Amino acid sequence: MDETRTDLRIRLLRLMHPMMLIMIAVAFVLSLAPLSFPSPDRFAYLLLLGALLIMLISAMIAQHKNRYLLSAYLTVALALTGTWPSILINLHAGIVDFFPLCYVTITIILSSLFLPSLVTIVLAVIQFTLLAVLVASSATLQLQNWPSFFFFVLLVSLLSMIANYLIKTQMRQLNESAIRDHLTGLFNRRYFEETLSNKLTRNQSDRSPWGIILLDIDHFKGFNDQNGHDAGDFVLAKLAHMMLAYFNLSSTICRYGGDEFAILLPHLEQKKLDEICQELVEQVHSLTLLHAGKDLGPMSISVGYACYTAQLNSVELFVKQADAYLYQAKQQGRNRAVGSS
Ligand code: GH3
Ligand code: MG
Repeated sequence: MDETRTDLRIRLLRLMHPMMLIMIAVAFVLSLAPLSFPSPDRFAYLLLLGALLIMLISAMIAQHKNRYLLSAYLTVALALTGTWPSILINLHAGIVDFFPLCYVTITIILSSLFLPSLVTIVLAVIQFTLLAVLVASSATLQLQNWPSFFFFVLLVSLLSMIANYLIKTQMRQLNESAIRDHLTGLFNRRYFEETLSNKLTRNQSDRSPWGIILLDIDHFKGFNDQNGHDAGDFVLAKLAHMMLAYFNLSSTICRYGGDEFAILLPHLEQKKLDEICQELVEQVHSLTLLHAGKDLGPMSISVGYACYTAQLNSVELFVKQADAYLYQAKQQGRNRAVGSS
């Protein structure tokens, strides 16, 4: 789950917590009824409710601090702990009580919403097996109409797993299209700025050197006029493809706009950054550009790069610095890289 975005699942989690609080409170009140438990079991049950309450409060705190994934794991663990220990502590209550079965359904719905599909399937299989064993081994339960209830829970869980899988796939596609550039498949400007901003925020704890690169194709307007827009699109895609192979996987490569690209290199010495940029300029210049049977000739780029320093503490300042170097590269005749040294 992307922790920087608020989606429907997070709102649901927010709704779920007060509901769980009510369930724990109801379970607490019911457990005080004189006939519900023999006293040693009641003590164990109260301890369990205390543990559930602590987990719930931790999940709420995690949610409050925007640690959504942690909150989701805690909530699933809470629902699991609510189900099975409560059945084990009071087998009779567990069998006739509606709550544990609600917990089974909630666990599976929650897990299918927030956790990987494999985890959900494993949880579902374990829980339904336990449920079946419990039902089969209980004379009391066999007297009740358990098959219809069992299959009802199974059906609700299956449907929610399928629905959640479809929703998750669609959300992933939507998120992808919001952060990707269509033509090149690279990340877009918005994603670059978000990533750079996150990196700057985390930078207080991470002292290793890093930097950004801005690059712009030289005379691209003229290139389009001469060779057509399609050939221009081809060149943009070709350059993107080349950069994906050139930079390592930890780099964030983005189309910043038009014929401009931005790259965030998270761990890099200044000297290495110089080398990488000079070599990039050379490699782009030596690219063979064959399009519709025509050699489009050499193209060149100008590059501006900047290493992180304490003064470059905002996205605007950092990009402005790299952009100033890019401007210098253009002024000095293009087809070159200029940066902080
Ligand atoms: P300079 O060397 O100063 O950068 O000159 P330039 O001609 O490249 O000037 P500039 O970077 O300002 O021009 C960007 C051009 O990029 C303008 C536009 O024709 C072209 N362009 C922008 N987006 C696209 C696109 O998606 N496809 C194509 N084919 N061309 C694009
Ligand atoms: Mg240009």
